[in-house]
Amino acid sequence: MAKTIQAIRGMNDCLPEQTGIWQYVEDILRTTVAQYGYQEIRMPIVESTELFKRSIGEVTDIVEKEMYTFADRNGDSLTLRPEGTASAVRAGNQHGLIYNQQQRLWYMGPMFRHERPQKGRYRQFHQFGVETYGLAGPDIDAEVISLSARLWKAFGISEHVTLEVNSLGSNAARADYKTKLIAFLIEHEAQLDEDSKRRMHTNPLRVLDSKNQDVQALLENAPKLQDHLDPESAKHFAQLCERLDHLGISYRVNPKLVRGLDYYNATVFEWVTDTLGAQGTICAGGRYDGLVEQLGGKTAPAVGFALGLERLVLMLTELSLTDAVPAPVDVYITALSEDALLYAQTTAERLRDETRLRVQMHCGGGNMKKQLKRADTAQAKVALLIGTDEVQQQQVTVKYLGGEAEQVTVALSALSTVLNTFFNP
Ligand code: ATP
Ligand code: MG
Repeated sequence: MAKTIQAIRGMNDCLPEQTGIWQYVEDILRTTVAQYGYQEIRMPIVESTELFKRSIGEVTDIVEKEMYTFADRNGDSLTLRPEGTASAVRAGNQHGLIYNQQQRLWYMGPMFRHERPQKGRYRQFHQFGVETYGLAGPDIDAEVISLSARLWKAFGISEHVTLEVNSLGSNAARADYKTKLIAFLIEHEAQLDEDSKRRMHTNPLRVLDSKNQDVQALLENAPKLQDHLDPESAKHFAQLCERLDHLGISYRVNPKLVRGLDYYNATVFEWVTDTLGAQGTICAGGRYDGLVEQLGGKTAPAVGFALGLERLVLMLTELSLTDAVPAPVDVYITALSEDALLYAQTTAERLRDETRLRVQMHCGGGNMKKQLKRADTAQAKVALLIGTDEVQQQQVTVKYLGGEAEQVTVALSALSTVLNTFFNP
């Protein structure tokens, strides 16, 4: 026998058993962003490598070691997108969506990073993100955050997530702070681990979110980003916090929150959870006012976030919050005699004309026991029993599989009403 071929490590199939919850999640995401008037943008999965180097930053985990980069047949360097923001800005610039305009956009789709696969961390994973352009004030920051908070409410996980916020200040203020931080780190270099020593020169802010306890202890005495904010960023941040208070969204100011991508400035935030072990961040974002210009457009303010769908699905599963996920089939139609076959199939089509129910018709024959077993496997709530009597009387027998009510025989003309009453009381 030939050897079976396996999927690439860290790249998962989503099997029928799982697609129900994914579609449920995607539906809620789409409906919620629509409530805020956001429009969808779809970008290619492959972009030129240059795009990510210039936006995410050369000295970031993503660009240094996580990208799937390859030469196209004509030698161009291409990369499977590791995130959506760079592509959104590229597309916005290319098609003139950003300059002198306001945009509220969202996207959803696969992203690729060559990381060590583990629970909540994969090589192909999916993000849902929003990106807004042309809006500079704390009002839009608050809107984007409240949109995310509404998502948690819709999924029923509000009490399992915490919002952390911080301000990175302007680029100039941060550059000034970096100099002071580097001076401090050099002075205490002996106490740093290898990772922090390396980052100290390449991306010193990342030392702040080191997972090493000793490094964290040392940082207690380091200069604080908060004390170096430019007045404008400080005011923006205070106004954002005031708005969050007003909207009833609780948050924790985390002065060490810096994010792993270079393009952020001013507001940054993360939604974290302790239900997923080490992979605790399910949603992260912030302001990136410099990126549009950095990628060749006319300068424009921008703020957005990205949410990891695998982590969200994992959370819903682990917290057993999947009751609202619809079963694939509502009504299962059996045909219990040879002369019932055509009648059963036209009844199925009629129901699809008259209702929005998910109707599956039994194919392939077999006795009633076998057909009802299939109805069970399909997770149908109702089976329609159709045999010779039903055909002759133009009736249908309705069997409630969860035992909600006694089996009844109804006229075919009344069937839609009976089922609609049961499914949408
Ligand atoms: P982490 O610190 O967990 O590596 P990150 O800072 O690299 O996350 P972002 O680039 O901000 O993550 O991406 C936003 C969200 O996308 C994350 O909060 C997470 O939910 C999800 N995500 C990121 N990388 C992965 C991955 N390899 N597998 C699954 N989800 C991911
Ligand atoms: Mg990462």
